[in-house]
Amino acid sequence: MRYQKLKGMVDILPGESEQWQYLEATAQRVFQNYQYHEIRTPLLEQYDVFARSSGDSSDIVSKEMYDFQDKGQRHVALRPEGTAGVVRAYVENKLFGPDQIHPYKVWYHGPMFRYERPQSGRQRQFHQIGVEALGSDRPEIDVETIAMASNFLQELGLTDYKIVINTLGDQETRQNYHQALVDYLTPLAAQLSADSQVRLHKNPLRILDSKDPQDQEIVAGAPSILDYLTTAAQAHFDQVQELLTALNINYEIDHNMVRGLDYYNHTIFEIMMTSPAFGNKEMTLIAGGRYNGLVAELGGPDVAGVGFGMGVERLLLVLQAQTHNLPQLSSPDIYLVTVDETVTVAVAKLLSQLRWAGISAERDYLAKKVKAQFKQANRLHARFTLTLGEQELAAQTAQLKRMQDGQETLVHLDDLTELIAKIKKG
Ligand code: ATP
Ligand code: MG
Repeated sequence: MRYQKLKGMVDILPGESEQWQYLEATAQRVFQNYQYHEIRTPLLEQYDVFARSSGDSSDIVSKEMYDFQDKGQRHVALRPEGTAGVVRAYVENKLFGPDQIHPYKVWYHGPMFRYERPQSGRQRQFHQIGVEALGSDRPEIDVETIAMASNFLQELGLTDYKIVINTLGDQETRQNYHQALVDYLTPLAAQLSADSQVRLHKNPLRILDSKDPQDQEIVAGAPSILDYLTTAAQAHFDQVQELLTALNINYEIDHNMVRGLDYYNHTIFEIMMTSPAFGNKEMTLIAGGRYNGLVAELGGPDVAGVGFGMGVERLLLVLQAQTHNLPQLSSPDIYLVTVDETVTVAVAKLLSQLRWAGISAERDYLAKKVKAQFKQANRLHARFTLTLGEQELAAQTAQLKRMQDGQETLVHLDDLTELIAKIKKG
């Protein structure tokens, strides 16, 4: 039996995980400036948290979910996205209560699961970094999330991305638009893809998101939702744009843009990039928007929400394609070279003392010859080596060698503060 990882699943190995840590640390640092705090919710939830009683006709929920009966016959699902679980936690923990700060602002990072056809930038277990702000329907908070996403990308050294916004308006907007869209699409129904013919009855807005080229051609001539906005929806969208302009955030409007989940309304946005990593095609890195009905749908009060999720794998593909200085495997400060078996205990002791003092230190565990140990120290990019033999131990002195230029200095083994100071000095 040859064991293999499942299709669409990926191992993140040492050397790569440093890049993940860097992204997560950058997210934490940037989001903290906007006062978003980290939340960690379970990977496994009740199936209904995602499907909900209203039903979600999106592909993500209806086709791509990893759902199953657990041993207690509960219908459960691995989360396909972060928002529903965060909102479930918000409601369940009564975070809407008066003893909390509002809006309640959180960020998260972690794996998501979707049963999709794996390809570059599309996996079955992938990762998102996301944010949610719950409890305010003000346009300032829509724009805050967009600004924060943009700030995050710039912190990573990315500048040539495109921010695209649209609005899905309120319920009345969508009712009116729904009718106009059905009126437009019905005579063309026979030309739509099989999927979209089903969508025409279930959720015609979904057709705007179709990846089928023929559907896309038909969609190009569809009426615009922007012509159906109620006064209130128009005012919200106008304010979003005014704020974006005031913050010098460049954006485009795409009136045909919708989102892959049914719970969105009002402002939605995507941040896209064209990169050699995607064969110079445009890909969406970050997607989000407002979801004012979701908290109530999950049993909470009628409070508003807005947020975004970004694909970490896609972001890393972009960063790796730009000869970017991504962090690598961390190197030891010092490598202790063991001359022979007689000093192995002394080496173990010194190694331990250095590590306890906060120095990243390494030694040989394979009984290698001295020359091979130096080779290993080079491979690890150790900044210093210290060679320890019987002679050194007898004299309680040893040569500290700076690997970069070979410069050696004598250090006293009975005074670790001297050694540590020299290592720290570099
Ligand atoms: P797409 O249209 O590319 O399928 P989506 O609308 O399904 O995207 P969202 O649910 O909005 O995507 O998720 C936000 C981000 O998460 C996407 O912009 C993308 O960067 C990332 N993402 C989504 N699905 C996957 C996947 N299967 N593998 C890797 N990243 C993904
Ligand atoms: Mg998708």
